Amino acid sequence: RPILVWFRRDLRLSDHPALHEAARSGRVVVPVFLHDQVIEGLGAAPKWRLGLGIEAFSDSLEALGLRLILRRGNALAELQKLVRETGAGAVWWTRQYDPDQIERDSEIKSTLQGAGIEAKSFPGHLLFEPWDVATGQGKFYQVYTPFWRSVRGRDVAVRLPAPADVAAPAHWPESDALESWQMGHAMNRGADVVRPYLHIGEAAARQRLASFARDRFDSYGTDRDRLDKDATSGLSENLTYGEISPLALWETGQRAMEAGKAGAETFLKEIVWREFAYHLVYHTPQITHDSWRAGWDSFPWQDESAETLRWKQGRTGIEVVDAAMREMYVTGRMHNRARMLVGSYLTKHMMTHWRVGQRWFEECLIDWDPAANAMGWQWVAGSGPDAAPYFRIFNPDTQAEKFDPKRAYRSAWVAELSQDPPGTALEFFSACPRNWNLTPDAAYPAPVVELATGRNRALSAYEHRKTA
Ligand code: FAD
Repeated sequence: RPILVWFRRDLRLSDHPALHEAARSGRVVVPVFLHDQVIEGLGAAPKWRLGLGIEAFSDSLEALGLRLILRRGNALAELQKLVRETGAGAVWWTRQYDPDQIERDSEIKSTLQGAGIEAKSFPGHLLFEPWDVATGQGKFYQVYTPFWRSVRGRDVAVRLPAPADVAAPAHWPESDALESWQMGHAMNRGADVVRPYLHIGEAAARQRLASFARDRFDSYGTDRDRLDKDATSGLSENLTYGEISPLALWETGQRAMEAGKAGAETFLKEIVWREFAYHLVYHTPQITHDSWRAGWDSFPWQDESAETLRWKQGRTGIEVVDAAMREMYVTGRMHNRARMLVGSYLTKHMMTHWRVGQRWFEECLIDWDPAANAMGWQWVAGSGPDAAPYFRIFNPDTQAEKFDPKRAYRSAWVAELSQDPPGTALEFFSACPRNWNLTPDAAYPAPVVELATGRNRALSAYEHRKTA
């Protein structure tokens, strides 16, 4: 009987254990993607980017003689319908670890199994399953460095090639047209501005990894924090939709280690930060919603306000913060160091709840990832595990001098800082919503919160909290 392979954040053919085993079984395979409430709940940019990923993945499947069947509705109900329509005896998928998906998948698994269908989940999204990494006391890790030490020498799964031959059904079930899902519907900002910055699909991801390995490994360790250099892999965009496997990155990093490339270990460590984020999300699912450390939700955080709108618009009057917020708006991405700086300014100088930032990133990032975003925000705010302590407050100006010494990053994104702004800085004004009424010739604003004032206010709120 046929196997339904249900794709989610695993839009690739290679390193795909579920697809690989389905192909090897010789049974008919029906690939499926479901637009359910989890997809419905995505932010504007990730949903739009996912739609582009689905389109590219459908094309890859077509080249194998397969079709990606698209259905919209409750995931369990749609799978049950597809089982009836195709006579499938199995539904297989790649495991996900965030609370929304775990809840949905557990219910689906038990209901289908109860009906005699082989419902089975496979690895592939991570290198190390969250339950396979434990401290000496059998507990989960709350601190990154021992987590890294525990996994760095471990064996990982073997790489799997894309299947060469997969049995297709004689008659395909009905499929929605992807356009009818209107995945870009909520992109009320210039999708055409962001589009050229994307690298969509498995082939593009592989190319990106190859060029990174060829050109950037040596300098990765020293330059990855530089805002003014394109020194990182850019692969988070592809990893989040599963267009490339973490295994591919790990193998490339290991080879570079063997070849003595200077930045190789740092790169492996970064990949393990992603693993750590999923480890935490699996073991403490509340990290996506609530402050991880006890008591932090009662900290006097501000909520959304006119000031936070200025943060979102890249008009805080702090140059590096504004550059980063505009970079995200135009490209759908933001440099990692810049994510830390805008997060620190929002949660400390502006004393705003980290959830405000988390939500805005979820709306704007094309590499939005439920685990990395939650961990990143709680790290920045000081409320997370192994986080930067609240009293350690980045000074965005000194950070900018260090990581953008010639002001190239700030000039690239903030038009008001130059007589003759570059195209990137001007793109922001084509990308942002009309009702923001922003123009590049306006005067650059004074800081929404002065650095010294904000720092002192945050520190005294922190001291007060400790003694309260
Ligand atoms: P590279 O430097 O090339 O690193 C390779 C890979 O390692 C990345 O693709 C990523 O998968 C992983 N990685 C690197 N740094 C981190 C990190 N700090 N945490 C977890 N994984 C990491 N990353 C996301 O993928 N999605 C998010 O939504 C996200 N939100 C963030 C929010 C905040 C507030 C912060 C501080 C960080 C966030 N990150 C997020 C982590 C990090 O900024 C990005 O993974 C990184 O900038 C991606 O660029 P790259 O692919 O060029 O990374």
